Amino acid sequence: MNGARAAVTAAKEAQTQALTRRKKLELDVEEWKARAKKYREQSSSVKTNEAYKALQHEIANAEAEVSKAEDLVLEQMMALEDGERRVKHVEADLREAEQAIAAEKRQMQVQYGEKKKRLEGATTEREEIAKKVPEDLLTLYTRIEKRHPGSAMAEAREEQCRACGVRVLPHVLQMLKTETDEEVFRCETCGRILYSLEPIPHATPKETANGAANS
Ligand SMILES: [Zn+2]
Repeated sequence: MNGARAAVTAAKEAQTQALTRRKKLELDVEEWKARAKKYREQSSSVKTNEAYKALQHEIANAEAEVSKAEDLVLEQMMALEDGERRVKHVEADLREAEQAIAAEKRQMQVQYGEKKKRLEGATTEREEIAKKVPEDLLTLYTRIEKRHPGSAMAEAREEQCRACGVRVLPHVLQMLKTETDEEVFRCETCGRILYSLEPIPHATPKETANGAANS
């Protein structure tokens, strides 16, 4: 995008310079024409043959310069046409880049909208669920979540806290596997609320309490 914009600027600058050069060459043409005219006027009033010859020489020279400058003007005009095509080309590139960026931006806005909607849905859902959780447990959960964002709870499996990998005491595991147990157990190392999925036939994860919990 910045490259395309720089190319447009460079092409336009080159065009401006070429135009200045053409104007200068056109002035050269006019200047040499004026000189040739002046010499021709002088040649009608010279007294000597030598002076006449010298003027004829100057006239020929000035006319050669006129034609040289005219050729250069033509060349410059062709260069200007090329330059014009180049400007159009890089401008088209720039428009293409701008359109691509605009499309990307629109897509990002759509994605943002979708994510925002999902977040709002999840927030509402969380609020609904939080209403059913006892207040002290919710307070504890919120506190742990501050330390472990998005993972305030950890599964206890294969005698380990799956979040930090430290061993979970056998009696805690036993309690976790008892469906009727309502106590909350926490990992002694990372402090997360432990749950077990293994032996409980119903799908809901089980939270249990640790009387000697660290906070
Ligand atoms: Zn842990």
